Amino acid sequence: MKNTFVALIVAAMLAASPVAAQSPETVLVNGKVVTVDSQFSIRQAIAIRDGKITVTGSTADVQKLAGPATRVIDLQGRTVIPGLIDSHLHAIRAALSFSTEVNWIGAPSLTDALGRIRDAARTMKPGAWLIVAGGWNVQQFKENRRPTQAELVAVAPNNPVYVQLGYGWAMLTPLASKALNINSEADLPSGGRFEKDAGGKLTGAVTGGQGAIIALFDKLPRPGFDDQVEGTTRFFRELNRLAVTGVVDPGGNNLTPDDYQALFKVWRDGRMTVRVAYSLCGQTPGSELEELKSWTALLPTGFGDQMLRFNGLGERITAAMNNNDRPTESDKDRYYQIVKWAAERGMPITMHWGRDGSVDQLLTIFERVNREVPIGNLRWSIAHLNDASVQSLQRMKALGIGWTVQDAMYFGGEQFVQQSGPEAARRVPPVNTAAKIGVTVGAGTDAHRVASYNPFTALQWFIDGKTVAGVAIRGPEETPTRADALRFYTMGSAWFSHDEQTRGSLEVGKLADLAVLSGDYLTVPVDQIGRIESLLTMVAGKIVYAEGPYK
Ligand SMILES: [Zn+2]
Repeated sequence: MKNTFVALIVAAMLAASPVAAQSPETVLVNGKVVTVDSQFSIRQAIAIRDGKITVTGSTADVQKLAGPATRVIDLQGRTVIPGLIDSHLHAIRAALSFSTEVNWIGAPSLTDALGRIRDAARTMKPGAWLIVAGGWNVQQFKENRRPTQAELVAVAPNNPVYVQLGYGWAMLTPLASKALNINSEADLPSGGRFEKDAGGKLTGAVTGGQGAIIALFDKLPRPGFDDQVEGTTRFFRELNRLAVTGVVDPGGNNLTPDDYQALFKVWRDGRMTVRVAYSLCGQTPGSELEELKSWTALLPTGFGDQMLRFNGLGERITAAMNNNDRPTESDKDRYYQIVKWAAERGMPITMHWGRDGSVDQLLTIFERVNREVPIGNLRWSIAHLNDASVQSLQRMKALGIGWTVQDAMYFGGEQFVQQSGPEAARRVPPVNTAAKIGVTVGAGTDAHRVASYNPFTALQWFIDGKTVAGVAIRGPEETPTRADALRFYTMGSAWFSHDEQTRGSLEVGKLADLAVLSGDYLTVPVDQIGRIESLLTMVAGKIVYAEGPYK
């Protein structure tokens, strides 16, 4: 009786103090909150409760909601943006080795890059492999060249060193070749060759097609499971440092079911600081359909939660259609069988395609499927396709297919100009045309083998069209505004995993994924956008990264 009475009083007190019950957990005030809502509204302040945004408005409006337990963050005029979402980042693969690889991303000179190897030789276990798996290009170095074998040996005389450039070249030190038992060209994966200099002398590097380099990389020792888990949490924090709170992961080469286990552990342990929507790639040439059927039998589309979600198939559906401009009828038929099966199950598809000249082959298959099973609401997408024609974009629009665009021209622009001429390069990639036609554009990087994962590098490139060497190749017709580029990286990218209703903008009811920036993205000189970082990153209102004034 007495207990009931007390309970009633407590209930009455709670009911009588609705303000306390509703006061936000966190408010951010005195800032420039770039909401990326449909009007691109700017606000001063934002309130967060239960992981979601409850109010946006003026500092005065938001401040008065604060209760005694509310955490008040003074932005001191700083800019807040929605957490960035990379719609095509090979994050799962990059994460596995993030704690055991050496990273050349953003190194301004070869001297700096070699210094990173020297540092790693000191900090890693004695004799450990030092592996640079990609993400760099000679144009980023002021020396404008690749490292020599002698330079690598000089900075790490007691470690095997392996440095890969894109998917066509890898330098090994003698200790590395010895450890892999490579004594002659016959020991290389098929298609691999020893590189020779102008005088016919071996340089120590291996060249060859993508297959040869992937197979060579596969010979390297893999990090153990604990290292993979450590690498995953560290890679996600690194993305948080750069304001990234979400990725759409397109699988990729060399990725087996085992490679997902570190990610799954981090998710089970509640340690995810980046939301991941992942798709699966066919891995065994010829039996992709059976393989994908078996892998997804108990994996319905959309399965998962807001931190980790299954998002269909791609970027490689079959080996035969991967980077193949001239697939045979039977290649195309097998591909059709798989994507039709996926459409029947409501799966998103994301498909890697390089050149517009051959994309008709892919679009014809998608159109055929669409006549039998409508795909308009399934969020299918094409990745890359940097020279997309108006006609291809119109066909994509008619099918409801989105386009994930990466800053490939930041590293590869000069090569594109060489192959296709400066006039063609002026419209690459035609994001303004795509937006005008109504194709959803998501932004991203394609990191980490072929590019840097830094979204601010990509945002700067969207806006100035300049390569890493500073050469402007894109024209103003296809240069988006800062607002549009940010839209691509937030609302645009969110679309590809059906998430534009829950994140991608800072609006009431949406998840409180945001970043407080070190510089004002909307007003700093364009050439400084690439240097912006986050000072404070939140995922669902929880601080996942804090630096400088917020440390
Ligand atoms: Zn790709």
